[in-house]
Amino acid sequence: MILTDYHIHTQYSWDSKLEIDDVIAKAISLNNDIIAITEHLDLLPWEVNAHGIFSLRQYSAHIDDLKAQHPRLRIIKGVEIGDYHLTKDYALAMLEDYPMEMILGAVHFLSDRTNIASPRLKPISKEQIIDYYKLHLQLVSTCEMDILAHLGVYKRHYQQPPDESFAMPIIKDILQVIIQKGIALEINFSPFRKAYACSIPENWMIDLYRDLGGNLFSIGGDCHHIDHFHDFRHLLPEWINDLELTTNNLLLLPD
Ligand SMILES: [Zn+2]
Ligand SMILES: [Zn+2]
Repeated sequence: MILTDYHIHTQYSWDSKLEIDDVIAKAISLNNDIIAITEHLDLLPWEVNAHGIFSLRQYSAHIDDLKAQHPRLRIIKGVEIGDYHLTKDYALAMLEDYPMEMILGAVHFLSDRTNIASPRLKPISKEQIIDYYKLHLQLVSTCEMDILAHLGVYKRHYQQPPDESFAMPIIKDILQVIIQKGIALEINFSPFRKAYACSIPENWMIDLYRDLGGNLFSIGGDCHHIDHFHDFRHLLPEWINDLELTTNNLLLLPD
């Protein structure tokens, strides 16, 4: 059994004040084998205007130091690239000098610039849901990444699942592309902290991925606070205990 969290935001992310040192201490206290720090690399113009960009040089050097200090905990240097399909050239140019060991791809904005990762007053429309999944299809088809982050995150603040039956063909296409490209599907357990109270994607979508032949996973809490980082296994299906580490640190469900 591998104890891990592959979605953690710390002091280098604009929306987290979590200290990396506190994360490391907690990971060690929880007997984690391996963790991935995945800072926000949000490069859309309005995001850069609002939050700036953190120093990849400082971040990279900091993680290298921590790796040397804590040889028994494997620490992965990663980023979550927001709306990668729209910022690809810029992101790749930045990462050329500071390569990352793990890249999460994420969709945070709809085409109409609705931020679907933050809480909203009313549910998004059917057209927006279709747009949301189409953007994922564009993301996974046009960008290289290790992990598709929080598929379905717009539901995170809902009370109950919306009807998504009309989006099923696009959802299937997304899952088929990630299977074909060897991109892991993230099981994001952050909605357990909210009213939605299940993982993103939900079990039905994870089952669909498995039915289509998908067996590569990641598990992450989308941690922005030390309390978000904990032992979450009891919240997830029992088979996650069978996941095995691949050579590139992803989690494989054996046949
Ligand atoms: Zn995100
Ligand atoms: Zn995140």
